[in-house]
Order: sequence, then C-alpha cells, then structure tokens
Amino acid sequence: MQALAEVSTCPESPEETAERCAMQWLEAGEAEAFQRHTSECSHCAEVLAEYAAFARLLRSALDEACRVSS
Ligand SMILES: [Zn+2]
Repeated sequence: MQALAEVSTCPESPEETAERCAMQWLEAGEAEAFQRHTSECSHCAEVLAEYAAFARLLRSALDEACRVSS
C-alpha cells in the first residue's frame, strides 16, 4: 500500500513512534521527521495528540507525586 505522493509514509508503527515522540525518547532527527509527517498525516497527528495528552497527564501525575512525597 502506497501513501499519496505528497504525504510521507507512516512509520511502521505510528502508535509506537507517537509514544516515543511524546515521551521524548526519539532522536532529534526522528522526532523532527515524525512531527513533519504528522503535519501531513491526520491519522498520525491524531495518534500523536493522544500520546501527547497521555504524556502530559503522566508528567503532571509524577510532579504531583514528587510534591506529595517531599
Ligand atoms: Zn502517518
């Protein structure tokens, strides 16, 4: 299955790439490429938005836990 010419191809696993991107586990170049891809691909943009929201929640939960235990 080929993507449209103007849209770069989706990563093999958009979910995994989005998770790694949201958690800032990707190499700088990989993150940049994936972010460029999400500006063209609504599916990956949606997946990334979900993981980004989850990552924010996770971070605020961690912050909260640190404040409570200190
Ligand atoms: Zn995509």
